[in-house]
Amino acid sequence: MAKNAPHGATAGDRWGLGRAIRQADAGPGDAPHGRSAVGCGRGSRRGPPGRWAVAGPRHGVPSFPRGNDQAMPPSPPDRIPLARIVSPRSVAVIGASDDVGKFGGRVIHYLIKHGYGGRLLPINPNRPAIRGLPAFPGIAAAPGPVDVAILAVPVGLLLREIEACAEAGVGACIVITGKLADAGAEGAAIEARAVAAARAAGMRLVGPNCLGIFNVTDGAMLSSSLALEVETVRAGGIGMVSQSGALMGTLVSLGHRHDAGFSRCVSVGNQADLELCDVLEFLIEDAATSVITLYVEGLKDPARFAPLLLRARAAGKPVLCVKAGRSEAGAQAARSHTASLAGSHAAFAALCRDAGAVLLDDPAAMVLAADALDRLPRLPRAGMGVAVVASSGGSTVTTTDMLADYGLRLGEMGAATRAELRRWMPESHVHLPLDTGSFNDGTSEDGLAACIGAFLRDDDIGSVIVPMTTQPAMAARAAMLPPLAREGGRPLLYVMMAGEVGDAARARLRAAEFPFYDHAAQALAVQRALEQEAQGRGRAVLPPPARPPGLALPAALPQGALTEAEAKRLVAAFGIPVTREALATTAGDAVAAAEAIGFPVAMKGVSRAVVHKSDLGLVKLNLADADAVRAAHAALLAAPVPLEGVLVQEMARGAAELILGARHEPGLGPFVLVGSGGIWVEVLRDVQLAPAPLRPEDARAMLRRLAIWPVLAGARGRPALDTEAAAEALVRLSWLAADLGERLVELDLNPILLRAAGEGCIAVDGRATLA
Ligand code: ADP
Ligand code: MG
Repeated sequence: MAKNAPHGATAGDRWGLGRAIRQADAGPGDAPHGRSAVGCGRGSRRGPPGRWAVAGPRHGVPSFPRGNDQAMPPSPPDRIPLARIVSPRSVAVIGASDDVGKFGGRVIHYLIKHGYGGRLLPINPNRPAIRGLPAFPGIAAAPGPVDVAILAVPVGLLLREIEACAEAGVGACIVITGKLADAGAEGAAIEARAVAAARAAGMRLVGPNCLGIFNVTDGAMLSSSLALEVETVRAGGIGMVSQSGALMGTLVSLGHRHDAGFSRCVSVGNQADLELCDVLEFLIEDAATSVITLYVEGLKDPARFAPLLLRARAAGKPVLCVKAGRSEAGAQAARSHTASLAGSHAAFAALCRDAGAVLLDDPAAMVLAADALDRLPRLPRAGMGVAVVASSGGSTVTTTDMLADYGLRLGEMGAATRAELRRWMPESHVHLPLDTGSFNDGTSEDGLAACIGAFLRDDDIGSVIVPMTTQPAMAARAAMLPPLAREGGRPLLYVMMAGEVGDAARARLRAAEFPFYDHAAQALAVQRALEQEAQGRGRAVLPPPARPPGLALPAALPQGALTEAEAKRLVAAFGIPVTREALATTAGDAVAAAEAIGFPVAMKGVSRAVVHKSDLGLVKLNLADADAVRAAHAALLAAPVPLEGVLVQEMARGAAELILGARHEPGLGPFVLVGSGGIWVEVLRDVQLAPAPLRPEDARAMLRRLAIWPVLAGARGRPALDTEAAAEALVRLSWLAADLGERLVELDLNPILLRAAGEGCIAVDGRATLA
């Protein structure tokens, strides 16, 4: 087979996949002042009602907190849309300088260096000219219209400059200046006044405390980031929104090293006005962007986020996301970093999964995975294996050993693949991982190409990972791969494990615009993200959850910490089965209640202050007769906490215990949880989370993801349990959570007992806190 065969693809259509042609949809000079088709104006803040808007009090309420300006008159229309902020026809640099050691000096330097094609207006009261361009003493003196002004002025001067820009009719300010809401109350007050001044004029703000915008597609680098020191940033399909400007610059620079191509990268800083969701919406519509990366610290308007993820999915654009604050320590840092509240990571992860987005831990892996999605074919479907192939046993085996750590597996070769491999090697070596050193005549390029070709056609092999070690002909072998991947239409992840001696091989891949990785872990992290992308893409698009009939919140809701009986009454109103029970004070009442309920009974001490009743001896089970009830009553009253009474309840039977929980995640909305229940929940940590409300199929899927699922489903000859009843209870609980909205702090039913299939489930304990 010929090396480097072009297979008919042109450089412009890199993989012959008919991807959207990369073009500027809003290049300098093509859109008039005013609103564009891209919905990033203020109207879009209210978002379309969707699954996420159904929930309780959020419905119909403008969800954008407008800070201190609630009482202000309505804002005038935006002077320019976000598309034009990203691709401005004219840019004023406030504080422009010839000194690249200064922010304003770097901004103008990078604009010129990266070929900004619009009107450039340096503003500096002390100089007639900067970088050979006429400078103006103030924004008022600059010839308009000015689409964008970039400000990197000291915080003390910020308000004055913003007001001058608003006055002069500037479309938007990119505010690099920091030490505002990110630095405490004083800064927050200045920030609020800047926003008010901008809004009163219809001027938009990016930032403050941001590093601006890299519009790589149109060569408009509106930033002071040192990432722009490179000769050129390669244009490509990766769009980025980042709450950290420094991280954005770093990721673009990292991507540059791997030849990743970017479209528009926007650092949103404190999101005082334009926020992450505005940019996400813009990137979904942006023809130059094929894959979207997000660095999120806290969402300003969470209700918009999930619907936008779904829209991105419908548009065929994968969204990759890193969320700060996975660890408690990280969450603390995020809070103080950009003055936004970090929602709980698990809830955020559930939301991303449900909306088909890819959540990663490592920002570097996010960029490499985005590059793979931009430049390589995508996986045919989720759940396929990988083939690991190279001419070194050491690299193939160690890479294979790492697969499971990334949730990946080797593929099971089909008959046709095995037949192809048999042509090149003895039967004993026809297996994965494939060491081409075992070829009959030693590693041959024809053999390598034939085997990789066969893998890329195999029904169970989604992608091929090639971990290359030092060897003769490294560069020539690297050069074979791009055409093979293109022809196979599946990802091929090339790892050059060697250091500098591998540079010749890397250069061949660069020339072919093909991604490469420097170590196996990078490739495996990318492969895991590709798998998640395929899972997200493959998720059925379901109609919004349908509300079961007859569910309504009671007219008078209890408040604060609820007792077990109060919590159970609340869930019973939503059709969740609970134990028959009665409150009693005296021993005589307790016996009467037990007789009415029927022996045996359970008895519990009632106290709002107690979280784990059994730890304090407040749970008495299997009380068979009146004497046992009297004895239990006496024992409960002797407990070391004051009781409101005792609860007498039916002894329920079940073969397994689950926990069902619900809470309102500040900033993200209502969530439900299901897990292995009983007193060991915290020990087992076998739980699944999802945003509420749920469809029945969502609830079933959550149950199936539990580690305990095989036991529920009837492992080792045990009877299958009533998981349908559990799913039904979970759906009902999810509607309760949705209806309670922000009033719900937390609620759990631990445990519900699950009986045999068809016999239902029942909640035997309940606890809740309502705001
Ligand atoms: P705690 O506050 O300690 O969680 P629970 O009410 O959940 O108290 O009781 C502890 C355990 O006792 C439960 O996990 C369950 O196994 C069992 N239990 C409690 N109430 C009943 C009941 N009515 N029927 C059967 N078992 C029960
Ligand atoms: Mg309990």
